[in-house]
Amino acid sequence: MRDFVEKEIVPIIDDLEYNGVPPYDVLRKLFTTFGMDELAGSNFDKQIAREESRASGASAEDSNTEKPATGTATEEAMDAVAMGLIPIIEISRHCQGLITAMGVSVGLTAGAIMSKGSLAQKKKYARDLLTLNKVGAWAITEPNSGSDAFGAMKATARRDGKGGYILNGNKTFITNGPFADTIVFICRLEEDGVEARDRKIVSFILDSGMEGLEQSAPFKKMGIGSSPTGELFLSDVHAGPERLMGESEDGYGRSGAKTTFSAERSGVACMALGLVERALELSLEYAQTRVQFGEPIGNYQLIQLKLAKMEVARLNLENLVFRFIETRAAGKDFSLSEASAMKLYAAQSAMEVATEAVQIFGGAGYMRATRVEQLMRDAKILQIYAGTDEMQIVAIARDLLANA
Ligand SMILES: Cc1cc2nc3c(=O)[nH]c(=O)nc-3n(C[C@H](O)[C@H](O)[C@H](O)COP(=O)(O)OP(=O)(O)OC[C@H]3O[C@@H](n4cnc5c(N)ncnc54)[C@H](O)[C@@H]3O)c2cc1C
Repeated sequence: MRDFVEKEIVPIIDDLEYNGVPPYDVLRKLFTTFGMDELAGSNFDKQIAREESRASGASAEDSNTEKPATGTATEEAMDAVAMGLIPIIEISRHCQGLITAMGVSVGLTAGAIMSKGSLAQKKKYARDLLTLNKVGAWAITEPNSGSDAFGAMKATARRDGKGGYILNGNKTFITNGPFADTIVFICRLEEDGVEARDRKIVSFILDSGMEGLEQSAPFKKMGIGSSPTGELFLSDVHAGPERLMGESEDGYGRSGAKTTFSAERSGVACMALGLVERALELSLEYAQTRVQFGEPIGNYQLIQLKLAKMEVARLNLENLVFRFIETRAAGKDFSLSEASAMKLYAAQSAMEVATEAVQIFGGAGYMRATRVEQLMRDAKILQIYAGTDEMQIVAIARDLLANA
């Protein structure tokens, strides 16, 4: 994986970060090089075969016999590491935006459809997203609703009286928004007699090019230039009932979106680990080679303190990632407070480490060529998306208090 990153990503990093080259071709190359597309496709086919046999009335026992032979928990954990986490860590060492673009398409968009979509929706949309044949976007944020994603949501779905819906609203800061083929659009169901804030949250699976759906050009951003971010404008978009997630008005409401939040939070720790590893590596090299006052700056205790703190952060992140893998290997999930605590720590430590790396490099750190400034700009987004630091704190405290 490291070899692939050095050969295929590092040489084109400026095009991806600053020159508007979309990330999807190199991500597809990653998938085909490591057979990630084939594995995702065959895992998908097996899961669908199981679901179809269950739907056709086969007993649980019958369907169990179709499951692939499962290995030990350790093997499964190692599969998860190889397939999911190692690419995230390795790519985030250089180009975290690629992971954002990939994660939103595969993890959030396909993930939402796989967890809450109907069988027909999974077959129609999820396979192409999981294999990266198509690009997905997951849209909840609006100009006036960010942290208060549900409370202030204005986007609506109105029943058209013929079983379908008319969708309206604007979404902003949407990863892959400018290029997405498939969009999960989250909105409120307009219902007479129900107060606006109490209306159901529903979501729809939309295709690029639908009448009334406009996808903006990418925004110019502080960091993660390799992850295109944009707006979506929906004006009287007609969606048939087959586009309603789960084909039910109770298919993907608040709980569905919250599950997606938890998944996102875990991925951030791996991104932070890659970024911190790289910042430390670059800082160590510079501290040994940059001479001031006749000595390498690494001989000065003020610089040593920064390096030592970076190592502490790296170890803590690595431990969190291992703990996450072990928890999943044991067939369990992190609680909301654990996932949020991991995200909060990961984001803050990545930002601190990257900022200190720039400091160690002095003026050179402020220059693009040394790359530490990119790590610092990329780290900042970890404190904002997938729930801001402040919202993680709220989530941790609420979850702890509710379960005390
Ligand atoms: C690059 C990028 C990619 C993104 N990708 C996606 C995507 O794919 N899909 C999607 O739907 N969204 C996406 N987002 C949106 C992102 O999730 C939101 O920006 C984020 O949730 C914060 O919302 P906001 O920007 O409206 O800030 P606000 O909610 O307006 O917050 C402003 C400040 O107030 C603080 N604040 C808010 N409420 C409280 C409170 N109760 N207590 C204390 N402090 C509070 C916040 O922490 C923050 O510091 C993306 C954003 C960016 C920048």
